[in-house]
Amino acid sequence: MPDSKFDVIVIGAGITGLTAAKLAAQSGLATANIEALLFGGLVININELDGEPHGSGTELASNLMMEVSDLGVANIAETVTALAREGDLLSVATDAGRHRARAVIIASGAQLRRLGIPGEAEFEHKGVSQCADCDGPMYKDEDVVVVGGGDSALQEALVLANFCKRVHLVHRGTKYRARQHLIDAVAARNNIYPVWNTVATRVRVRNVLDGATTEIPCTGLFAYIGLEPRCEFAPPEIQRDANGGLMTDASLRTAMTGVYAAGAVRAGYGGLLTHAVAEGDAAARALTAHLRG
Ligand code: NAP
Repeated sequence: MPDSKFDVIVIGAGITGLTAAKLAAQSGLATANIEALLFGGLVININELDGEPHGSGTELASNLMMEVSDLGVANIAETVTALAREGDLLSVATDAGRHRARAVIIASGAQLRRLGIPGEAEFEHKGVSQCADCDGPMYKDEDVVVVGGGDSALQEALVLANFCKRVHLVHRGTKYRARQHLIDAVAARNNIYPVWNTVATRVRVRNVLDGATTEIPCTGLFAYIGLEPRCEFAPPEIQRDANGGLMTDASLRTAMTGVYAAGAVRAGYGGLLTHAVAEGDAAARALTAHLRG
């Protein structure tokens, strides 16, 4: 679909982007949703959602995707490379062409951060993974290492504990930043072993306080050390925070007129599924009001 024109382009088809596209289409706006990867975003890696709604991430995303398609949203499978103003319109350049719209919602999400240690890239899918639900069964009755101390690390350690003999939960500090119910669930498992004050350096780990290194024999390494916003295409006039998240005002407007940012790509995003939905919804409402003057 090279060079097409819409009222609204939503960049990203994760839960935030799909929610925004759905609402924009329901408001009668000609809407396109551009996504380079599979729809659904990071949530499709979760077999059992933590809280409401129940079920798997794939089910949630598929249902939303069907609603969006039924509403006539154009689903465009391309990679966005640039965003610029072009007269009264905004121009979204992709690897396959150019699309224009009166307004844009950036909901391109985030990707899991990498450790950046030797062997991580070389052993990807051969021992190094970032999807416990997908790869956990391959490590049945074996030892694995999970790195991180946030919701992701603890949630995924709990998934791995269902398959593995031992899950070594390597955290660089002495306090998890995960929510309490996950901390309690981890404490209740007798095959999850916390390794505090420690960072991974080849699954040879180093204590950050005394520098002592130890090797943890294991067959799998799962790193969950936070998220990196995916927004290389956004122009510099949209400011970023220290983590690279796009800055907005309370109405999710960026500094570029007609451009909104929502979900994991946004600075200050809350991180829960409820936030993903609420932000998609709020951005679409603000944009609809903007287009209607
Ligand atoms: P996060 O909350 O940013 O936590 C990252 C963890 O990794 C922190 O414990 C951090 O340590 C550690 N870390 C960062 N860089 C490191 C490094 N280079 N080496 C070792 N450790 C490092 O990331 P997240 O857990 O992926 O969560 C991201 C967002 O998604 C959060 O808002 C979270 O609530 C949300 N989330 C929600 C759910 C859910 O709803 N069930 C599930 C997963 C994630 P320090 O603590 O020392 O900084």
